[in-house]
Amino acid sequence: MIDVHVHLRDAPAVEVYGQVARSYGIRCCWTMSPLSQVDLIRQALGDTDVRFIAVPDWGNPDPLHTMGQGFLDAISAFHSEGSRLVKFWAAPRARDLSIETGHPDLMDLTGPWRRRQMEHAASLGMGIMTHVADPDTWFETVYSDQDRYGTKAAQYEQFERALEAFPVPWLAAHMGGWPEDLNFLDTLLERYDYLHLDTSATKWMVRALSAHDQQQIETFFTRWKHRILFGSDIVAVGEHLVIGGEGARADQAGTSAEAFDLYASRYWALRTMFERDWTGPSPIADPDLHRIDPDQFTPLDAPTLVGRALTDEVLRPLYAQAAAQFAQSLGMP
Ligand SMILES: [Zn+2]
Repeated sequence: MIDVHVHLRDAPAVEVYGQVARSYGIRCCWTMSPLSQVDLIRQALGDTDVRFIAVPDWGNPDPLHTMGQGFLDAISAFHSEGSRLVKFWAAPRARDLSIETGHPDLMDLTGPWRRRQMEHAASLGMGIMTHVADPDTWFETVYSDQDRYGTKAAQYEQFERALEAFPVPWLAAHMGGWPEDLNFLDTLLERYDYLHLDTSATKWMVRALSAHDQQQIETFFTRWKHRILFGSDIVAVGEHLVIGGEGARADQAGTSAEAFDLYASRYWALRTMFERDWTGPSPIADPDLHRIDPDQFTPLDAPTLVGRALTDEVLRPLYAQAAAQFAQSLGMP
């Protein structure tokens, strides 16, 4: 299996991730990691293959540089390390960060900096990965200020303009940001034959995909079986191995054993949902349930996970072949 969407950082956590990956059949992962950790991550993963997705230097305290010239430079540097895919994060929350810099369109997919960066990526033969939108639940709650963030549909106007401007191999994370609306994804995939989706953000995918009926899921995953790539969005970072560490949360980890369980829960949930005829409580706490209905749910409650028992004919491309084809189209080593 190939996991096209992970975030790895710091050797001890990456080693734990590597154990989980091997346990769940992952032979290769594509990670969004700091450029400075490329060698360290390769070493920590041992036999598990790794590819690097170009990302801005989030550790830099100057966002205007990080998302501007700094990202152009980072794209070149990642390319030299063998990267063939550049991630442009454009969740509505990016608007907050951009406004703080005094350039509200800094991180817009159609803003002048993003355009230059996409041009640069395309000129190097790299593909584009995006995070557009966020769960429907967030638009009902955290993004209720529509003047600031726009509606969910409005996110896709920018997205489509960027897609039209750069017809390169394209990967839209988190089922294109709209797993709640498979009919909409049908129309996007019909219109742009170079567009692909990944299944990452396990918590969100389990909640949203479990809500569809069986026939709809089977039809969608069968129809687009060469355009949907398996991804988990596992975040494996050093803080997970520190009890009460910075950013520690009740639903996160503090020891290697807890970190193992945290990462494993993502693969267990996704593989159970795709492969098995099993329905039961998801092992992953989902605070969005509480966000929408605080009377009925606590932040540690979890949704029902519905197993889909997809056939091998669908699972093989989902788990590996679609990613391998996508990589090949970019000449990824
Ligand atoms: Zn991610």
